[in-house]
Amino acid sequence: MSFATRLLHTGNEIDRTTGASAVPIYQASTFHQEDVDQAQPYEYARSGNPTREALERTIATLEGGTRGFAFASGMAAISTALLLFSAGDHLIATDDIYGGTFRILTTVLNRLGIETTFVDVTDLENIRAAIRPNTKGLLLETPSNPLLQITDLAGAAKLAKEHGLLTIVDNTFQTPYLQRPLDHGIDVVVHSATKFLGGHSDVVAGLAVTKDQALGHRLKQLQNSFGAVLGPQDCFLLQRGIKTLKVRMDASCDGAELVARWLANREEVAKVYYPGLAAHKGHGVHLEQSSRSGAVLSFDLGTEERAKRLMRAVKLPLVAVSLGGVESILSYPATMSHSGMPKEERHKRGISDGLLRLSVGLEDPEDIIADLEQALQNG
Ligand SMILES: *Cc1c(COP(=O)(O)O)cnc(C)c1O
Repeated sequence: MSFATRLLHTGNEIDRTTGASAVPIYQASTFHQEDVDQAQPYEYARSGNPTREALERTIATLEGGTRGFAFASGMAAISTALLLFSAGDHLIATDDIYGGTFRILTTVLNRLGIETTFVDVTDLENIRAAIRPNTKGLLLETPSNPLLQITDLAGAAKLAKEHGLLTIVDNTFQTPYLQRPLDHGIDVVVHSATKFLGGHSDVVAGLAVTKDQALGHRLKQLQNSFGAVLGPQDCFLLQRGIKTLKVRMDASCDGAELVARWLANREEVAKVYYPGLAAHKGHGVHLEQSSRSGAVLSFDLGTEERAKRLMRAVKLPLVAVSLGGVESILSYPATMSHSGMPKEERHKRGISDGLLRLSVGLEDPEDIIADLEQALQNG
């Protein structure tokens, strides 16, 4: 069955007890035990809740994994997955990384004896060169945030296997509709489901998926131990959002392609970062591992002043942190998504003070372009 059909027929859409067309919000923290000696499917909602379980099965199926896990936020999913590592372990991570992930690696896990080296992973040789005897993990994002750099997933997974490294990919930008890292040999997929999977800018959530049974068992223990689970109401909203993932992504990708091409021809714009543009360095690799270019692009207006003028002049997009909503969202990485990264680190990575990130929503792309045009002129 195609992905479009599977989105609606995962087997988790119907409530098994009543036949209701949606699994209800089981707003319960605990479950009555008919017989204390008899194991039962649900006991306490941190370990398992039927609404959460339906969502967890859905994301596992869509990513081509065997187990899914729902967390209170994308950062809760990422942080819990990072607890697979132990004191003394060394990690390698992409240097163009989500600010919150950078923060936990450099201000929390470092204190617990887990050290991270950040490298430009667009060249796999940089990963190889950073491997030490105690290197245990590789953390990737492709396309990365906010510069949309592309990493060869199959190549990175192969290199990691040769050296016994556990691989984690943040698949927030592409979603399983466009890209399925587990198919390329990656071990753990994590998501900020706050973005495209939820899709409506009304829920904060995180998801993780594994394929290997033993690894899934370890992550289940960590989810239950750390306890940062997603509540049933938010699980319901995610299940609802996921049903329209394909149509939303298709419309947003169509829009992003048009907007990126338009921006690339504007003289006010110093640079456009979008893997769908043939001029993008990772264009070829991206299209081998992902079915479309995605709905997020970044562009550089050269100076902080110009970027801020544009943000004040636009009328359509939400000027906000976040991405992946039905509405377009314009953000300023320097003070928003990447405020967790010191200025020198940001600049070293090319996240300049003139950089803006646009997540293209479901508005008519011509209206978005007209709005950007008036904002570039009037701003
Ligand atoms: C937003 C985001 C996160 C963090 O997710 P939250 O749901 O905000 O905790 C992690 N990775 C990427 C790529 C993101 O865009």
